Amino acid sequence: MFQRVLLVDASTGFYRTRKYGFERYFGPVDLGIHLTEEYRSLNFGVGIFAGSIFPGSNRLVVTGFSPCWQGYYISSMGGAGLMFDNLGINMLSLVGKAPVPSVLYLNRNHGEEIELELLPLDVEAIWKSGRGGVYGLTDHVYGMFSQRYENDPRILVAGPASLHTDMGGIMSVPISKGKISFVDTWAGRGGFGSAMVRNHGIVAIIYGGTVVSEDFRDRKVADEWFRDKYNLRLTEKDLEATRKYRFDEKLNTGGTLGVNYATMGGRIMAFNYRTIHWTEDERLALHRDLVLNHYLKQFNEETIATKQQATCGEPCMAVCKKMNGIYKKDYEPYQTMGPLCGIFDQRAAEKLNHHCDAMGFDAISGGGVLAWLMELLDEEVFTREELGVTRLPRWDTATFDVVNDSLHNAELGCELIDAILERRGILDFREGVRKWSRIHSRLKGTALHDRMVYIAFSRRGWMVPNQYWVSGALVPMAIMGKYYMIYSFDFIPPRTLGRMCADRMKQELILDNLGVCRFHRAWAEELLPEIMDSLHGCRERFLHSIHVLASRLDSRNSPIFWESDRNIDYLHTFLKRKREVDNDDRPELLEWLERFEHNRLEAARDFWYETLKGINESLREFF
Ligand code: SF4
Repeated sequence: MFQRVLLVDASTGFYRTRKYGFERYFGPVDLGIHLTEEYRSLNFGVGIFAGSIFPGSNRLVVTGFSPCWQGYYISSMGGAGLMFDNLGINMLSLVGKAPVPSVLYLNRNHGEEIELELLPLDVEAIWKSGRGGVYGLTDHVYGMFSQRYENDPRILVAGPASLHTDMGGIMSVPISKGKISFVDTWAGRGGFGSAMVRNHGIVAIIYGGTVVSEDFRDRKVADEWFRDKYNLRLTEKDLEATRKYRFDEKLNTGGTLGVNYATMGGRIMAFNYRTIHWTEDERLALHRDLVLNHYLKQFNEETIATKQQATCGEPCMAVCKKMNGIYKKDYEPYQTMGPLCGIFDQRAAEKLNHHCDAMGFDAISGGGVLAWLMELLDEEVFTREELGVTRLPRWDTATFDVVNDSLHNAELGCELIDAILERRGILDFREGVRKWSRIHSRLKGTALHDRMVYIAFSRRGWMVPNQYWVSGALVPMAIMGKYYMIYSFDFIPPRTLGRMCADRMKQELILDNLGVCRFHRAWAEELLPEIMDSLHGCRERFLHSIHVLASRLDSRNSPIFWESDRNIDYLHTFLKRKREVDNDDRPELLEWLERFEHNRLEAARDFWYETLKGINESLREFF
């Protein structure tokens, strides 16, 4: 067993393949991080189960140095590994920079050598053509090359956000029988679109082929493994494991958006997190009136009741992609560019999310930044002219009109997106929001970042956290913004929290390094290493390599204690809510609350360092 890597120098178009032994590198993450260290490359890889019958095994995993996080990062998108597997390689590794924005074409027919071309594109014009942005670019690239493929190819694209900011994502949609679908999948977090465009001059990659590799496809044997472990067949176990992503009968909804909004109650976060300071009754009323009775109701009626659902491109019973016509709806983008921006109407959220997606932003970071800028406008820290827009947010809850005010705020969000891309007024996020905030905080004489919730890393790295009001969302892990942390709603003492986050990271790395979708984690985490043992006799070596990988990532951890005052409030109010609303009276929680009452900043610092100690002792103890 070995991994075959196609190394492409985008500055010259020269390429070569290299093999890496299976005894050292097992998948797209450990090999990708190695190549990043060696060459500062941007890597796209699949796991060893790509093309197999295991559902969720065709993720395309991207690794590299993240422009926004300013550290090594791992991002992935569903289904895009399926066509990649047809190239007969495990990884594409980009080095060098094309002199002008270019498309990379990869094709392999019937075991022949890979065809590779690097062609310049007038991308600024293409982004403005047809469906616009990443969608226009997808159509354009498909038009250029589709006739060269025997099977449907897949296309990775970046948008204008990748050129003008450090938070551009990479988008791809499944193409089936020559039809480009609307089900966009993203390697959004980490800003790898920005890395692809700004570091390598590549704005799109089209790939596919006809290579049939020897993938595991023996359903009888797989069923035996599943029966031994769970007393269920593969399909039965997977159906059980993915229920909430498909449809939860108890909640009468499905998908991340449906399930999260149906269950969050007083944990709702809206208006740039201002709701953390509201009373529980106020939050519950907001959730009931604007979310349950409108935002979620629309979603359930339009998407769930009509079963508008799809997969990321691979055969998967979870059908987690919940659609309304051309709009795909996940919780986190429809949260940051929903309630967090003062938007509680699906039409308005569709408008803003679609524009943000078309421009190619990582939607979670993009939405977090928009909510922050809206608050700066609302508080009159900046004028409309300074931020290049024509309106102010409508965030007055006493008079809030759910349809009209949501639409108004969405239109403001769209204006802000255009203002960011065109660098209107004083906006310039080319080097990230943290650096911009530093400069303009000095000029304004007020700490702008105190109003933004973000995780700081190194000198100018930043990340909008996952959208759960929990202590795990802001922990000092080496990679944040994805689920290498615990997002339990319970109070967990910080030292334990740190240890648990470190353990969670290792579990998630198992999935990422196998290129498997985390929505199947209920069986994949424990069973796939055992299956590796049955097939390749390497369970222990694989798990050992996961520990080493986690330590390796952790060794480059450069966490920065929360710069933003709102981060401290985020944790403090979470703890208070545990006591006051959930009636948690454990002595440790009471002690932390006392410490916060006594000296809020010092308590926050101690909580943060205790968490870091837990992370550290868990990831370093291996040696
Ligand atoms: S759960 Fe969703 S993202 Fe994961 S493999 Fe299935 S369809 Fe794709």
